[in-house]
Amino acid sequence: MTRTPPVALKAVLLNTPDIELWPGGLLRARSNGDARTLSRARHVLRRKRDGTYLAADLAEGMLPLVPRLHREPGLDAALDLLGVSPLHSRNGIDHVGELPLHRLQERLDALDIDADGYSERTGLALVAEPEWLAFAGVDRYRRALWLRIDAARAWLRMREAAARDGILLEAISGYRSHDYQLGIFARKLARGLAVDDILQVNAAPGFSEHHGGCALDIGTPGEPPAEESFEATPAFDWLQAQADGHGFAMSYPRGNPHGIVYEPWHWRYQGA
Ligand SMILES: [Zn+2]
Repeated sequence: MTRTPPVALKAVLLNTPDIELWPGGLLRARSNGDARTLSRARHVLRRKRDGTYLAADLAEGMLPLVPRLHREPGLDAALDLLGVSPLHSRNGIDHVGELPLHRLQERLDALDIDADGYSERTGLALVAEPEWLAFAGVDRYRRALWLRIDAARAWLRMREAAARDGILLEAISGYRSHDYQLGIFARKLARGLAVDDILQVNAAPGFSEHHGGCALDIGTPGEPPAEESFEATPAFDWLQAQADGHGFAMSYPRGNPHGIVYEPWHWRYQGA
């Protein structure tokens, strides 16, 4: 049986180490001028480290949105992806490659994070970012939710199945980049926190399952996001009974071997 993917899955985020290429209509405008440009753009180049919109790929050409665009790190790698559509790649619709990890290692060293020690302590491994991600609808905050295409399809189907049973599942957060997690650390370090204290609350950059595009945090209306109280909701009961049939498993149950706090909201797609 072939299944046509939902239309939404045709929107993809193309990923490079420094820059993401977003489909034009999905980014939040920061001004009226922005809104017009973003809605017309085929792609918007977005700096991963801080979210800055760098350039808009318009029908008439590339419109720089920052001064000295040509000096932007990683620009060439991003421009190389323009016109590339992974959905029609010769490798087939589901082929998702991964970005290399060496650059992450350098940045962990720069932040004085002992990645090897952390890995040994937690049993967690570095998680590579996918080369591209599929649009899986919006999250609770109306932001684009990005997941690997197999996880995106499974999530949309699971959400529909839950809805048929009268259960509303909401995505809280899906794919997050290494740069996003590095940014959290850089800001906290700048405020004077110690690495070990930050690691009590945040996974080390590179080690979060969210980097791989298969994990998502799930909530339900009226519940605060990412709180243990989620386990007392009908939505959680439904997930415990049904998620497995949709290929999802809870990553961090009580007493998990990684020493990560119990996260009843965090689920990972592991294949049908
Ligand atoms: Zn999570």
